[in-house]
Amino acid sequence: MRKKIIAANWKMYKDLAEVNDFFTFFIESLSEQPNAEILIAPSFTNLRHAFETTRDYTIEIIAQNMHEKENGAYTGEISAAMLKSIGINRVILGHSERREYFGETNTSLAEKINTALKNEMKVIFCIGEKLEERKEENHFNIIETQLKEGLFHINENNWDSVVIAYEPVWAIGTGETASPEQAQEMHQFIRNTIAEKFGKGIAENVSILYGGSVKPNNAKELFRQPDIDGALVGGASLEIESFNKIIQAI
Ligand code: PEP
Repeated sequence: MRKKIIAANWKMYKDLAEVNDFFTFFIESLSEQPNAEILIAPSFTNLRHAFETTRDYTIEIIAQNMHEKENGAYTGEISAAMLKSIGINRVILGHSERREYFGETNTSLAEKINTALKNEMKVIFCIGEKLEERKEENHFNIIETQLKEGLFHINENNWDSVVIAYEPVWAIGTGETASPEQAQEMHQFIRNTIAEKFGKGIAENVSILYGGSVKPNNAKELFRQPDIDGALVGGASLEIESFNKIIQAI
């Protein structure tokens, strides 16, 4: 069944004390039965603490990235097995900031996906077009290529472990959101593209999140769209009040 998900991407924000503070108050404020699964991705250094703090609650702590190799001489990198060993079972892959600043490509992401799945980790696979690509009306091609080159090599039975996040690069951290219609149009396109290759059953069951300046004031309209199953939230997930309002909007 398609799941509703609200995921927080904390990027390179919040040190240990700030993470601790957030959870102290967030856990108190969280309703017992939120309408969506709540996922939070702190930095690597805070994963274990966040995991232990939230283990009795309906919050899943996830990683922002991992390396594609199982292990080896890759100074500064983190493997799937390391994440698994501290209780982390899901990872965000292909965020546009990783693609842009760290040279991640559809090919390297395909390898990361394989490694994650082999280690029985779930993935949130991020895709999205840049502003000039949308202006050139090339956005559907870009998304199709990201899906086909990065993800479509997986087996039918791997789809249970995959969530897609459509994040137009021009909307991330800019305060500019895709309109609900623009987002719905692309989510429907993504679902249809999955259906063409893997069948309607799989496509209907995949959760597709929207990301890009989701805020309390635009979340409801976005969540009303039939193919939007939740959100990947950056800036607005750093504050309890705004994050809670987004959770309530679903
Ligand atoms: C993100 O980093 O995935 C994101 C969507 O950020 P923001 O909500 O700040 O645009």
